[in-house]
Amino acid sequence: MQCILCQCDMVNDEQALLVKGHHICTSCEARIVRLHTDAPEYDHYKNGLKKVWWCAKA
Ligand SMILES: [Zn+2]
Repeated sequence: MQCILCQCDMVNDEQALLVKGHHICTSCEARIVRLHTDAPEYDHYKNGLKKVWWCAKA
């Protein structure tokens, strides 16, 4: 099982965030939570997640 954002191998399945069948590791989840809309990383994560994350929230 791999994180869809950083492609890291997640050993602990229980800590993975599951969004629409895609897994996000706790590191990426923490980054997303901390991101501000004006942060350089924001677009990267938003683009990577928009098909799963924002749909899941809607
Ligand atoms: Zn990750």
